[in-house]
Amino acid sequence: LEEQYRHAQKMEAVGQLAGGVAHDFNNLLTVINGCSEMLLEDAGDGPSVRTRAGAIREAGERAAGLTSQLLAFSRRTVLEPRIVCPNVVVAETGNLLARLIGEDVRLVTALDPRIGRVRVDPGQFGQVLMNLAVNARDAMPTGGRLTIETRDVVLDEAHTRVRSEVRPGRYAVITVADTGTGMTAEVKARVFEPFFTTKGPGKGTGLGLATVFGIVKQSSGHIEVDSAVGAGTTFRIFLPVIDEGTVPVPTAKPVRVCGGT
Ligand code: ADP
Repeated sequence: LEEQYRHAQKMEAVGQLAGGVAHDFNNLLTVINGCSEMLLEDAGDGPSVRTRAGAIREAGERAAGLTSQLLAFSRRTVLEPRIVCPNVVVAETGNLLARLIGEDVRLVTALDPRIGRVRVDPGQFGQVLMNLAVNARDAMPTGGRLTIETRDVVLDEAHTRVRSEVRPGRYAVITVADTGTGMTAEVKARVFEPFFTTKGPGKGTGLGLATVFGIVKQSSGHIEVDSAVGAGTTFRIFLPVIDEGTVPVPTAKPVRVCGGT
């Protein structure tokens, strides 16, 4: 618990810092990127000037990508939770996910038709799936399989004893599993830390899973990871199923893709 508290505090501080820095930094980058663009136009055929201006532009574009991730990470008030069926969110993100992971990775989905509804921001939850899919793809450079599964489970006292921060109850469990490289115990222990990355400079930001963690926590959920080197990685997200008896639910649902209570 102490550990979790420190993690939450760190996330909060990093979020505030990131938001402020990213905003100012972005203004500076506009100047850098604009000027390198003009330099490139003026450079004509001078090879060394072109190469250098090109390098500036490339670095500037990468930096701009980083600041937009930082801004997304620190934006914490924009969650617009709705009561949705997890299967619908998975299905709606499916095309995008398939494109993200490329042709060498096969996307397999297995959706539990009995799954209950949850309260999440569907856009943010799509972001969660995309961040997990990008990491899965990076862990499978020579191809593999990405499985997204939804399941309706009831956790009793015995189950929740091993997951100290989960209360007994009914959950929609969304599992994202890959057949990739897997992780060492040391990496696994740090994956949700902001700025923790093993991907090297210019490639990873270490914010993907910190963002995932933040969104899941803000949705009153829980996330855990199973991984071993050579055995692939499985992320499991637990979202409390909304008791529809106590919450107003939009009527006139034409298709019933989500199980009730
Ligand atoms: P980034 O992708 O920018 O490195 P993340 O927060 O998304 O940042 O991930 C942090 C680190 O966790 C990655 O650098 C990688 O070492 C590890 N990781 C995350 N997902 C996976 C996965 N599916 N398989 C293996 N390693 C992973």
